[in-house]
Amino acid sequence: MYNSEKIKNILYSKKNIVLLGHINPDGDAVGALIAFGGYLRGLSYNVTLITPNEAPHFLRKLKDFHTISDFSKNEALLIPKIEKADLIFCLDFNELDTRIGDVAMYALKNVKAQKVLIDHHQNPPLDLYDAAVSDTNASSTCYLVFKILEELGELDRITQEMAEAIYVGMMTDTGNFSYGNLTPDLFRVLSVLVEKGANPVALNSMVFNTQTESRMRLMGYVLYEKMEVTANGNAAYIALSAGELRRFNYKSGDTEGLVNLPLSIADVTLSAIFIEMPDCIKISLRSRGADAVDVNLFARHYFVGGGHKNAAGAKFFGTLEDAVKQFEKGIDELKLEK
Ligand code: 5GP
Ligand code: MN
Repeated sequence: MYNSEKIKNILYSKKNIVLLGHINPDGDAVGALIAFGGYLRGLSYNVTLITPNEAPHFLRKLKDFHTISDFSKNEALLIPKIEKADLIFCLDFNELDTRIGDVAMYALKNVKAQKVLIDHHQNPPLDLYDAAVSDTNASSTCYLVFKILEELGELDRITQEMAEAIYVGMMTDTGNFSYGNLTPDLFRVLSVLVEKGANPVALNSMVFNTQTESRMRLMGYVLYEKMEVTANGNAAYIALSAGELRRFNYKSGDTEGLVNLPLSIADVTLSAIFIEMPDCIKISLRSRGADAVDVNLFARHYFVGGGHKNAAGAKFFGTLEDAVKQFEKGIDELKLEK
């Protein structure tokens, strides 16, 4: 079911393996890189783990984080590794053109390497890959990594460091186990990870209790001054300009999670955040509830983006105001009701 036989066959006779995570790596991408990378290293493959840019601070506390290289800081070293690879794993993303930035050029150019996808995002372009474990029902890629190792009969190879990485990916992609496909099997997997040494209290604290003072103040500012509730109280959005980010000493990752805050309001079932980045407006969309808006479709229809039913993202090339206008047009057309 998790294509492990095919992966096993593809691994046979390979030597140099590159694992890629997506741009603006999150807990799931980093966790999957550490865990699957750790497994392959344990089998004595020559493994290179790459994220296109840097990961947020809290993830750098994962014990094996140092096994990951940041492409934006080590291009000269990493390009030859990609070119030399005979196998490339793509973890936690599926679109080579929009999700991995400059790394894509080299990954695509390298025709020698076979490519394997392990991912849970919608609409995978499967023809780009030689094999794929693509399960859009899975709540995280880390869960899939575990399932593959289990199907391969390799659970004994999961070290404490790998267990912690998988746990963090599963925890962050489900909003601390509060949304997504929270199946009985997910909790069984967690129990195995805890047996292998993942400490839920310590990992929870590592991920959620590591805010800087300026990030906390940014959150206060966002809630008090910037949150706009609209569509009869059923939707909310936050728009942050580059100037506002500067005012709160913005660091990569500081805006992570802010989009979820309005969803704590009883009637708000759709939330968006617009962040003015140097090259574009970065948009995050979230929805919740029984009749949740499919924000993956919303992001595809109104913006250039995608993701999942309850969590999606997009880029907008224009002003912050125009991005918000486009969003309002979208929610007008949805006609959200109480
Ligand atoms: P976030 O809002 O946390 O950046 O992303 C939420 C989800 O939407 C993630 O699963 C991510 O893969 C997806 N996503 C975010 N930005 C983009 C984008 O620009 N394009 C596409 N296709 N998906 C995105
Ligand atoms: Mn993910």
